Amino acid sequence: MRNTRCPFCTMIFNDKHKFCNHIANKHNDQVPEEYEPLEWAYSLLVHKPVGRLCTECRKNYVHFNKETLKYCRICDDPACRESYVKKVKARMVNVYGKEHLLNDADMQRKMIYNHANARDYVWDENHTFRIIGTYEEDFLNKLKSLGWSPNDIVAPSPNNYWYKWKDGSTHLYIPDFYIISLNLEIEIKESNNTHPRMVHNREIEYLKDARMRKECDKTGLHYLKIVDKNYDEFIELYVKSDNNQPE
Ligand SMILES: [Zn+2]
Ligand SMILES: [Zn+2]
Repeated sequence: MRNTRCPFCTMIFNDKHKFCNHIANKHNDQVPEEYEPLEWAYSLLVHKPVGRLCTECRKNYVHFNKETLKYCRICDDPACRESYVKKVKARMVNVYGKEHLLNDADMQRKMIYNHANARDYVWDENHTFRIIGTYEEDFLNKLKSLGWSPNDIVAPSPNNYWYKWKDGSTHLYIPDFYIISLNLEIEIKESNNTHPRMVHNREIEYLKDARMRKECDKTGLHYLKIVDKNYDEFIELYVKSDNNQPE
């Protein structure tokens, strides 16, 4: 963020969190009563009115996350989430243009859905996520504690990433979560994996990483692995940082 002067005093900031916290705390008396102080401060920073409309229906207002200081893209209406995911998938058809790959992807998604350890994580009465394992559950709990809107989370990611094994065969990687507002794919990992196929897995891990790095370089996507429930990097890079430019 470029240097921005506080509209109420002489202080100058180059970080959106510092700017917004300063206004919300030091100039709280300036905040109109009907607004949430951080959201109002953010509106001053970006010179836009308070509140944003859902990018799908353009009718309902979306949630403002006070931790990341970001607006969600889509509203609470399940139809908006559905149409958003549909668009992502349509984009995929254009990129790959191969019907059989998409059928494979659908099958793999069904397998994830029906996995023996898969279960529903109930966020609230309107939002349920299909997850496998306690590490993913822990991540959702973390997002909840950070004031996240469930409308901003897709599990597993709606995106398909195809990559090749050494033997030339094509395989599909589907990250565990996709955070819409951050354009961020998230992989949840457990380092203490004593599975006998570990060596093979390590190789696959390397190929997947390379695939994701390429995607990030090419498209500006973000990708993060969260290992053993350590959220330091996630918070450092995507919550408490200015990495996510004000918009
Ligand atoms: Zn000030
Ligand atoms: Zn909507």
